[in-house]
Amino acid sequence: MNRVYNFSAGPSMLPEPVLVKAAEEMLDYNGTGMSVMEMSHRSKVYTSIIENAESLLRKLMKIDDSYSVLFLQGGASTQFSMIPLNLFSKYRKADFINTGNWSKKAISEAKLYGTANVIASSEEAKFTYIPEDYKLSEDVDYVHITSNNTLEGTRFMSFPETGNIPLVADMSSEIMSREIDVSRFGLIYAGAQKNLGPAGLTIVIIKNDLIGKHLNITPTMLRYETHSKEKSLYNTPPCYSIYVAGLVFKWLDDMGGVKTIEKINNEKAAILYNFLDESEMFANKVNKKDRSLMNIPFAAPTDELNEKFIKEAEQAGLSTLRGHRLIGGMRASIYNAMPVEGVIKLVEFMKKFELENK
Ligand SMILES: *Cc1c(COP(=O)(O)O)cnc(C)c1O
Repeated sequence: MNRVYNFSAGPSMLPEPVLVKAAEEMLDYNGTGMSVMEMSHRSKVYTSIIENAESLLRKLMKIDDSYSVLFLQGGASTQFSMIPLNLFSKYRKADFINTGNWSKKAISEAKLYGTANVIASSEEAKFTYIPEDYKLSEDVDYVHITSNNTLEGTRFMSFPETGNIPLVADMSSEIMSREIDVSRFGLIYAGAQKNLGPAGLTIVIIKNDLIGKHLNITPTMLRYETHSKEKSLYNTPPCYSIYVAGLVFKWLDDMGGVKTIEKINNEKAAILYNFLDESEMFANKVNKKDRSLMNIPFAAPTDELNEKFIKEAEQAGLSTLRGHRLIGGMRASIYNAMPVEGVIKLVEFMKKFELENK
C-alpha cells in the first residue's frame, strides 16, 4: 500500500487512524454484525453514534446549550439559501463582507430572498486581503463572512464586532483548525469534507433564539426548526459520514483538542510560508497578516514551470497541488489531517525543484 501526501482542497485527507478504525469496523460495528452503513438511523446503536459525535463536537468547540448543533446534508452551498430563508425575519436584509468566490455565491443566493448589502470587498485586489474598513448597517438581520477563503488563501484573524446583530460565518475550510469563541457567532456552518470527515455532511451551529423565524415559503427540509426539533433525525441523516466525523472528533480530542491542533497548524503553515518568503521562484501574493493556515496558494513565474512542478510533485507522492481553476498556479491545502512531515516533504521538494530549474 502506498499512501501519498494529499494536498486536495476537499474532499481531503483524513487522519490515518480514523481510516484504519473505520476499516476495522466496516463489516461488524461493535458486535452488531452489520456495518454502520446498513444500520437503521433509529436504532439504539446509531443513536449512541450520533449523540456521541454531537457531544464530542460540543466539547471540542466549547459549545453551550444556548446553541443547537445540526447534522445536515446539501453541503455548505445549501446553507447559502437556508440562512436567508431562516434568518431574514425582520428586515429581509443582511450585510456581507465579500472576500472571495464562496462569499460571492452566498451573496447571490441571499439576493433571491431579500437584500444582500455588500459593505466591503477585496475583489479589486483579486481577494488578496481581508477588508477592515467598513461600516455595519443597523437594519439587517445578520452579518455574513467567509472566515477562511479556500481558493484565495486568506482568513479573518479576528472577527467583526457586530453587537446585537448575529454574525454568521462560513467556516467550511477551517472549522476546528483554531480556537474560536463560538459565543461571538449567531450561526457557524461548514461542509464536513475539508476538516471534519467525508462529504455528505454539513454542520450547522446555531444560536437557539435564531430558530423558528423562517420565511413562510421555506420548505420543511430547509427549516432549522425541523432539524433542531428532531435532533437531526427528521429524515435519514448522512449516517456514515456522521459516524466517520465522530471518529475524527475522537482523534482530535485524544490528541488534546483544538488548542493542540492549532499549534501544529501554525507550525505547518510557518514552514511553508517561511520558505515561500525566501524563495526566488515561488511566490504567495496574499497580504501577510491575512494569510490562511489551511489553504496556501503559490506560483512560479511561468505556466510551464507550474505545470512541470505539479507533474513532478505528483510523481514524488505529493498529490493534488494544482491551484483552483480561477486562481491558477498551485495550492497546498494543509488541513488538520495533514501531518507536519507532509509539509516538510513539500518544502524539500520545492527547494530541489527551484535549484534544478533556475
Ligand atoms: C468548499 C466550500 C464551500 C462549498 O461546500 P459544499 O459542501 O461543496 O457545498 C463553501 N464555502 C467554503 C468556504 C468552502 O471551502
